[in-house]
Amino acid sequence: MSEHFSKRRKTRKLYVGNVAIGGDAPVSVQTMTKTKTSDIDATIAQVKRCEVAGADIVRITVNDLPAADAIKEIVQSVNVPIVADIHFNHILALKSIEAGVAKVRINPGNIGAKERIKEVLDAAKTKGIPIRIGINSGSLENDLLEKYKYPTAEALYESAMRHVGYATEFGFEDIIIAVKSTSVPLMIDAYRLIAEKTDYPLHLGVTEAGMVRVGTIKSAVGIGTLLAEGIGDTIRVSLTDEPEKEVEVGKEILKSLGLASRNVEIISCPTCGRIEVDLLKITKAIEEKVKDIKKSVKVTVLGCAVNGPGEAKDADIGIAAAKGGGLLYLNGKQIRKVREEDIVNTVYEEVLKFQPKD
Ligand code: SF4
Repeated sequence: MSEHFSKRRKTRKLYVGNVAIGGDAPVSVQTMTKTKTSDIDATIAQVKRCEVAGADIVRITVNDLPAADAIKEIVQSVNVPIVADIHFNHILALKSIEAGVAKVRINPGNIGAKERIKEVLDAAKTKGIPIRIGINSGSLENDLLEKYKYPTAEALYESAMRHVGYATEFGFEDIIIAVKSTSVPLMIDAYRLIAEKTDYPLHLGVTEAGMVRVGTIKSAVGIGTLLAEGIGDTIRVSLTDEPEKEVEVGKEILKSLGLASRNVEIISCPTCGRIEVDLLKITKAIEEKVKDIKKSVKVTVLGCAVNGPGEAKDADIGIAAAKGGGLLYLNGKQIRKVREEDIVNTVYEEVLKFQPKD
Protein backbone atom coordinates (compact mmCIF):
# COMPACT_ATOMS: atom_id res chain seq x y z
CA MET A 1 0.00 0.00 0.00
CA SER A 2 1.26 3.45 -0.84
CA GLU A 3 2.34 5.50 2.15
CA HIS A 4 -0.34 7.99 1.10
CA PHE A 5 -3.17 5.52 1.61
CA SER A 6 -2.25 3.87 4.85
CA LYS A 7 -5.85 3.40 5.96
CA ARG A 8 -6.69 0.41 3.82
CA ARG A 9 -9.96 -1.23 4.79
CA LYS A 10 -9.43 -4.38 6.83
CA THR A 11 -10.74 -7.42 5.01
CA ARG A 12 -10.43 -11.15 5.44
CA LYS A 13 -7.81 -12.79 3.24
CA LEU A 14 -8.73 -15.39 0.64
CA TYR A 15 -6.80 -17.21 -2.03
CA VAL A 16 -7.63 -17.54 -5.70
CA GLY A 17 -5.10 -20.18 -6.67
CA ASN A 18 -1.79 -18.71 -5.52
CA VAL A 19 -3.08 -15.11 -5.60
CA ALA A 20 -4.10 -13.68 -2.23
CA ILE A 21 -7.06 -11.30 -2.18
CA GLY A 22 -7.80 -9.11 0.83
CA GLY A 23 -5.95 -8.69 4.10
CA ASP A 24 -2.49 -7.30 3.40
CA ALA A 25 -2.31 -8.73 -0.14
CA PRO A 26 -1.50 -6.32 -2.98
CA VAL A 27 -4.51 -5.26 -5.06
CA SER A 28 -4.70 -7.72 -7.95
CA VAL A 29 -5.73 -7.09 -11.55
CA GLN A 30 -8.25 -9.31 -13.29
CA THR A 31 -9.71 -9.51 -16.74
CA MET A 32 -12.11 -11.75 -18.63
CA THR A 33 -11.67 -13.63 -21.89
CA LYS A 34 -13.82 -12.70 -24.86
CA THR A 35 -13.45 -15.87 -26.93
CA LYS A 36 -16.00 -18.67 -27.10
CA THR A 37 -14.82 -20.82 -24.19
CA SER A 38 -15.46 -23.97 -26.21
CA ASP A 39 -12.80 -22.73 -28.67
CA ILE A 40 -10.06 -24.07 -26.43
CA ASP A 41 -7.06 -22.96 -28.51
CA ALA A 42 -8.31 -19.40 -28.95
CA THR A 43 -9.17 -19.13 -25.26
CA ILE A 44 -5.80 -20.47 -24.08
CA ALA A 45 -4.02 -18.08 -26.47
CA GLN A 46 -6.00 -15.15 -25.12
CA VAL A 47 -5.36 -16.10 -21.48
CA LYS A 48 -1.63 -16.34 -22.26
CA ARG A 49 -1.66 -12.86 -23.78
CA CYS A 50 -3.32 -11.63 -20.59
CA GLU A 51 -0.60 -13.32 -18.53
CA VAL A 52 2.06 -11.50 -20.53
CA ALA A 53 0.18 -8.23 -20.04
CA GLY A 54 0.38 -8.85 -16.29
CA ALA A 55 -3.05 -10.21 -15.35
CA ASP A 56 -3.08 -11.79 -11.90
CA ILE A 57 -6.37 -13.66 -12.45
CA VAL A 58 -8.45 -14.38 -15.57
CA ARG A 59 -12.19 -15.07 -15.63
CA ILE A 60 -13.81 -17.23 -18.27
CA THR A 61 -17.49 -17.64 -18.97
CA VAL A 62 -18.85 -21.14 -18.51
CA ASN A 63 -22.18 -20.62 -20.17
CA ASP A 64 -22.93 -24.03 -21.65
CA LEU A 65 -21.84 -27.67 -21.57
CA PRO A 66 -19.20 -27.35 -24.33
CA ALA A 67 -17.65 -24.52 -22.27
CA ALA A 68 -17.74 -26.66 -19.13
CA ASP A 69 -16.10 -29.49 -21.06
CA ALA A 70 -13.35 -27.13 -22.27
CA ILE A 71 -12.46 -25.54 -18.95
CA LYS A 72 -10.24 -28.35 -17.61
CA GLU A 73 -7.84 -28.22 -20.54
CA ILE A 74 -7.74 -24.42 -20.34
CA VAL A 75 -7.00 -24.45 -16.60
CA GLN A 76 -4.20 -26.96 -17.13
CA SER A 77 -2.62 -25.05 -20.03
CA VAL A 78 -2.16 -21.65 -18.40
CA ASN A 79 -0.34 -20.24 -15.39
CA VAL A 80 -2.80 -17.70 -13.98
CA PRO A 81 -5.67 -18.82 -11.76
CA ILE A 82 -8.90 -19.20 -13.74
CA VAL A 83 -12.30 -18.09 -12.46
CA ALA A 84 -15.46 -19.66 -13.88
CA ASP A 85 -18.24 -17.17 -14.54
CA ILE A 86 -21.57 -18.92 -14.02
CA HIS A 87 -25.11 -17.71 -14.17
CA PHE A 88 -27.93 -19.82 -12.72
CA ASN A 89 -26.74 -23.30 -13.71
CA HIS A 90 -25.41 -25.37 -10.80
CA ILE A 91 -24.30 -28.23 -13.07
CA LEU A 92 -21.92 -25.88 -14.88
CA ALA A 93 -20.64 -24.67 -11.50
CA LEU A 94 -20.02 -28.23 -10.30
CA LYS A 95 -18.26 -29.18 -13.53
CA SER A 96 -16.05 -26.09 -13.35
CA ILE A 97 -15.09 -26.75 -9.74
CA GLU A 98 -14.29 -30.33 -10.65
CA ALA A 99 -12.18 -29.08 -13.57
CA GLY A 100 -9.93 -27.15 -11.17
CA VAL A 101 -10.96 -23.51 -11.42
CA ALA A 102 -9.63 -21.29 -8.63
CA LYS A 103 -12.86 -19.37 -7.96
CA VAL A 104 -16.45 -19.33 -9.15
CA ARG A 105 -18.39 -16.19 -9.80
CA ILE A 106 -21.95 -17.18 -8.99
CA ASN A 107 -24.84 -15.68 -7.05
CA PRO A 108 -26.13 -18.41 -4.74
CA GLY A 109 -29.66 -17.02 -4.75
CA ASN A 110 -29.87 -17.63 -8.48
CA ILE A 111 -28.93 -21.32 -8.37
CA GLY A 112 -32.43 -22.50 -7.44
CA ALA A 113 -33.33 -25.06 -4.79
CA LYS A 114 -31.40 -25.05 -1.52
CA GLU A 115 -29.98 -28.53 -2.14
CA ARG A 116 -28.35 -27.20 -5.30
CA ILE A 117 -26.86 -24.23 -3.48
CA LYS A 118 -25.52 -26.56 -0.82
CA GLU A 119 -24.07 -28.90 -3.43
CA VAL A 120 -22.13 -26.08 -5.13
CA LEU A 121 -20.92 -24.57 -1.84
CA ASP A 122 -19.86 -27.97 -0.52
CA ALA A 123 -17.90 -28.65 -3.71
CA ALA A 124 -16.19 -25.23 -3.45
CA LYS A 125 -15.40 -25.84 0.22
CA THR A 126 -13.95 -29.26 -0.50
CA LYS A 127 -11.62 -27.74 -3.11
CA GLY A 128 -10.87 -24.73 -0.89
CA ILE A 129 -11.95 -22.17 -3.46
CA PRO A 130 -13.88 -18.94 -2.85
CA ILE A 131 -16.93 -17.68 -4.68
CA ARG A 132 -17.55 -14.17 -5.88
CA ILE A 133 -20.99 -12.72 -5.55
CA GLY A 134 -21.40 -10.24 -8.36
CA ILE A 135 -24.27 -7.75 -8.25
CA ASN A 136 -24.93 -5.62 -11.28
CA SER A 137 -27.25 -2.61 -11.26
CA GLY A 138 -28.65 -3.79 -14.61
CA SER A 139 -29.91 -7.10 -13.27
CA LEU A 140 -31.28 -6.34 -9.82
CA GLU A 141 -34.10 -8.51 -8.51
CA ASN A 142 -37.60 -7.23 -9.31
CA ASP A 143 -38.67 -6.93 -5.68
CA LEU A 144 -35.67 -4.68 -4.95
CA LEU A 145 -36.44 -2.54 -7.97
CA GLU A 146 -40.00 -2.22 -6.74
CA LYS A 147 -38.83 -1.37 -3.23
CA TYR A 148 -36.20 1.20 -4.23
CA LYS A 149 -37.87 2.35 -7.54
CA TYR A 150 -34.51 2.31 -9.37
CA PRO A 151 -31.04 0.87 -8.69
CA THR A 152 -29.60 2.60 -5.63
CA ALA A 153 -26.56 1.86 -3.48
CA GLU A 154 -28.91 0.46 -0.82
CA ALA A 155 -30.57 -1.81 -3.39
CA LEU A 156 -27.21 -3.14 -4.61
CA TYR A 157 -26.12 -3.65 -1.01
CA GLU A 158 -29.32 -5.46 -0.09
CA SER A 159 -29.06 -7.71 -3.14
CA ALA A 160 -25.44 -8.58 -2.32
CA MET A 161 -26.25 -9.36 1.31
CA ARG A 162 -29.18 -11.51 0.25
CA HIS A 163 -26.82 -13.71 -1.78
CA VAL A 164 -24.24 -13.65 1.00
CA GLY A 165 -27.00 -14.90 3.32
CA TYR A 166 -27.66 -17.91 1.08
CA ALA A 167 -23.99 -18.86 1.35
CA THR A 168 -23.45 -18.18 5.05
CA GLU A 169 -26.58 -20.16 5.88
CA PHE A 170 -24.53 -23.19 4.83
CA GLY A 171 -21.47 -21.99 6.73
CA PHE A 172 -19.70 -20.77 3.59
CA GLU A 173 -17.71 -17.61 4.26
CA ASP A 174 -15.04 -17.53 1.54
CA ILE A 175 -16.80 -14.77 -0.31
CA ILE A 176 -15.66 -11.85 -2.44
CA ILE A 177 -18.27 -9.26 -3.35
CA ALA A 178 -18.76 -6.94 -6.33
CA VAL A 179 -21.51 -4.33 -6.65
CA LYS A 180 -20.97 -2.95 -10.13
CA SER A 181 -22.82 -0.37 -12.13
CA THR A 182 -22.34 1.54 -15.37
CA SER A 183 -22.87 4.65 -13.24
CA VAL A 184 -19.66 5.72 -11.55
CA PRO A 185 -21.34 7.64 -8.68
CA LEU A 186 -23.64 4.68 -8.01
CA MET A 187 -20.87 2.09 -7.90
CA ILE A 188 -18.80 4.36 -5.64
CA ASP A 189 -21.71 4.73 -3.20
CA ALA A 190 -22.56 1.03 -3.31
CA TYR A 191 -18.99 -0.08 -2.63
CA ARG A 192 -18.64 2.48 0.18
CA LEU A 193 -21.78 1.10 1.79
CA ILE A 194 -20.70 -2.51 1.57
CA ALA A 195 -17.18 -1.60 2.77
CA GLU A 196 -18.65 0.11 5.82
CA LYS A 197 -20.88 -2.80 6.77
CA THR A 198 -18.84 -5.93 6.00
CA ASP A 199 -15.26 -7.20 5.97
CA TYR A 200 -15.56 -9.28 2.82
CA PRO A 201 -12.88 -8.53 0.20
CA LEU A 202 -14.21 -6.40 -2.64
CA HIS A 203 -13.78 -6.82 -6.38
CA LEU A 204 -14.07 -3.34 -7.90
CA GLY A 205 -15.34 -2.48 -11.34
CA VAL A 206 -17.39 -0.09 -13.42
CA THR A 207 -19.41 -2.45 -15.57
CA GLU A 208 -19.74 -2.05 -19.34
CA ALA A 209 -17.54 1.01 -19.12
CA GLY A 210 -17.33 1.33 -22.90
CA MET A 211 -14.61 1.84 -25.49
CA VAL A 212 -11.01 2.43 -24.42
CA ARG A 213 -11.06 6.21 -24.00
CA VAL A 214 -14.31 6.57 -22.06
CA GLY A 215 -13.97 3.22 -20.32
CA THR A 216 -10.49 4.05 -19.10
CA ILE A 217 -11.63 7.36 -17.67
CA LYS A 218 -14.76 5.93 -16.03
CA SER A 219 -12.79 3.05 -14.54
CA ALA A 220 -9.98 5.29 -13.34
CA VAL A 221 -12.43 7.62 -11.64
CA GLY A 222 -14.64 4.90 -10.13
CA ILE A 223 -12.03 2.35 -9.16
CA GLY A 224 -9.43 5.03 -8.39
CA THR A 225 -11.69 6.95 -6.01
CA LEU A 226 -12.42 3.83 -3.99
CA LEU A 227 -8.82 2.62 -3.93
CA ALA A 228 -7.71 6.05 -2.74
CA GLU A 229 -10.13 5.64 0.16
CA GLY A 230 -8.57 2.28 1.01
CA ILE A 231 -11.49 0.29 -0.44
CA GLY A 232 -10.92 -2.57 -2.87
CA ASP A 233 -8.89 -5.77 -2.98
CA THR A 234 -8.99 -6.78 -6.63
CA ILE A 235 -10.03 -4.84 -9.74
CA ARG A 236 -11.35 -5.45 -13.21
CA VAL A 237 -11.49 -2.77 -15.87
CA SER A 238 -14.27 -3.56 -18.33
CA LEU A 239 -13.61 -2.33 -21.87
CA THR A 240 -15.07 -2.94 -25.30
CA ASP A 241 -11.62 -4.07 -26.44
CA GLU A 242 -9.12 -6.87 -26.00
CA PRO A 243 -8.68 -8.18 -22.43
CA GLU A 244 -4.97 -7.30 -22.50
CA LYS A 245 -6.04 -3.67 -22.80
CA GLU A 246 -8.16 -4.06 -19.65
CA VAL A 247 -5.13 -5.41 -17.82
CA GLU A 248 -2.94 -2.54 -19.01
CA VAL A 249 -5.48 0.05 -17.83
CA GLY A 250 -6.00 -1.76 -14.52
CA LYS A 251 -2.28 -1.81 -13.89
CA GLU A 252 -1.99 1.87 -14.76
CA ILE A 253 -4.72 2.71 -12.23
CA LEU A 254 -2.79 0.86 -9.54
CA LYS A 255 0.47 2.49 -10.59
CA SER A 256 -1.06 5.94 -10.47
CA LEU A 257 -1.95 5.37 -6.81
CA GLY A 258 1.36 3.75 -5.95
CA LEU A 259 -0.44 0.44 -5.40
CA ALA A 260 1.15 -1.60 -8.17
CA SER A 261 3.46 -4.35 -7.18
CA ARG A 262 6.11 -5.66 -9.54
CA ASN A 263 5.75 -3.01 -12.22
CA VAL A 264 8.04 -0.48 -13.82
CA GLU A 265 6.43 2.90 -13.24
CA ILE A 266 7.46 5.47 -15.84
CA ILE A 267 7.00 9.14 -15.09
CA SER A 268 7.45 11.42 -18.08
CA CYS A 269 6.75 15.09 -18.59
CA PRO A 270 4.19 16.37 -21.10
CA THR A 271 7.02 18.26 -22.88
CA CYS A 272 6.98 21.94 -23.84
CA GLY A 273 9.11 24.42 -25.73
CA ARG A 274 12.07 23.76 -23.44
CA ILE A 275 12.37 20.17 -24.63
CA GLU A 276 15.97 19.09 -25.35
CA VAL A 277 15.41 15.58 -26.85
CA ASP A 278 12.73 13.59 -28.71
CA LEU A 279 11.06 12.64 -25.42
CA LEU A 280 7.93 11.05 -26.89
CA LYS A 281 9.98 8.62 -28.98
CA ILE A 282 12.34 7.84 -26.10
CA THR A 283 9.57 7.28 -23.55
CA LYS A 284 7.57 5.09 -25.92
CA ALA A 285 10.64 2.96 -26.62
CA ILE A 286 11.44 2.61 -22.88
CA GLU A 287 7.81 1.70 -22.13
CA GLU A 288 7.86 -0.99 -24.82
CA LYS A 289 11.18 -2.44 -23.65
CA VAL A 290 10.27 -2.71 -19.95
CA LYS A 291 6.62 -3.71 -20.27
CA ASP A 292 7.19 -7.36 -19.34
CA ILE A 293 9.61 -6.72 -16.48
CA LYS A 294 8.01 -7.70 -13.18
CA LYS A 295 9.66 -5.62 -10.49
CA SER A 296 8.90 -2.38 -8.68
CA VAL A 297 11.06 0.33 -10.24
CA LYS A 298 10.29 4.03 -10.56
CA VAL A 299 11.75 5.62 -13.68
CA THR A 300 11.52 9.32 -14.53
CA VAL A 301 12.15 10.71 -18.00
CA LEU A 302 11.93 14.48 -18.19
CA GLY A 303 12.61 16.77 -21.09
CA CYS A 304 14.87 19.46 -19.63
CA ALA A 305 16.67 20.73 -16.57
CA VAL A 306 13.65 22.57 -15.12
CA ASN A 307 12.04 19.61 -13.35
CA GLY A 308 14.26 16.79 -14.59
CA PRO A 309 16.87 16.70 -11.80
CA GLY A 310 14.25 17.16 -9.06
CA GLU A 311 12.07 14.33 -10.31
CA ALA A 312 15.08 12.12 -11.05
CA LYS A 313 16.29 12.54 -7.47
CA ASP A 314 12.98 11.10 -6.28
CA ALA A 315 13.19 8.04 -8.55
CA ASP A 316 15.13 4.80 -8.70
CA ILE A 317 16.34 5.62 -12.20
CA GLY A 318 16.05 9.09 -13.69
CA ILE A 319 16.87 10.89 -16.91
CA ALA A 320 16.93 14.69 -17.00
CA ALA A 321 17.38 15.68 -20.61
CA ALA A 322 20.12 18.13 -21.48
CA LYS A 323 21.35 19.28 -24.90
CA GLY A 324 21.91 16.22 -27.12
CA GLY A 325 21.31 13.70 -24.34
CA GLY A 326 20.43 13.33 -20.70
CA LEU A 327 21.85 13.16 -17.21
CA LEU A 328 21.43 9.73 -15.67
CA TYR A 329 20.45 9.55 -11.99
CA LEU A 330 20.48 6.36 -9.93
CA ASN A 331 18.87 6.37 -6.48
CA GLY A 332 18.78 10.14 -6.57
CA LYS A 333 22.49 10.60 -7.42
CA GLN A 334 23.69 12.08 -10.69
CA ILE A 335 25.89 9.47 -12.37
CA ARG A 336 26.86 10.56 -15.88
CA LYS A 337 25.75 12.09 -19.14
CA VAL A 338 24.19 9.75 -21.74
CA ARG A 339 23.89 10.52 -25.47
CA GLU A 340 20.32 10.85 -26.75
CA GLU A 341 20.57 7.69 -28.86
CA ASP A 342 21.76 5.71 -25.82
CA ILE A 343 19.07 6.81 -23.34
CA VAL A 344 16.63 3.96 -24.06
CA ASN A 345 19.17 1.17 -23.71
CA THR A 346 20.82 2.78 -20.71
CA VAL A 347 17.52 3.00 -18.85
CA TYR A 348 16.63 -0.55 -19.88
CA GLU A 349 19.94 -1.92 -18.61
CA GLU A 350 19.61 -0.04 -15.34
CA VAL A 351 16.08 -1.42 -14.89
CA LEU A 352 17.41 -4.95 -15.42
CA LYS A 353 20.19 -4.36 -12.87
CA PHE A 354 17.93 -2.65 -10.32
CA GLN A 355 17.34 -4.50 -7.06
CA PRO A 356 14.03 -3.42 -5.45
CA LYS A 357 14.07 -3.07 -1.67
CA ASP A 358 10.74 -4.96 -1.20
FE1 SF4 B 1 8.93 21.35 -20.39
FE2 SF4 B 1 11.16 20.64 -19.14
FE3 SF4 B 1 8.81 20.55 -17.84
FE4 SF4 B 1 9.33 18.77 -19.73
S1 SF4 B 1 10.47 19.02 -17.80
S2 SF4 B 1 7.44 19.93 -19.51
S3 SF4 B 1 10.51 19.96 -21.19
S4 SF4 B 1 9.84 22.36 -18.62
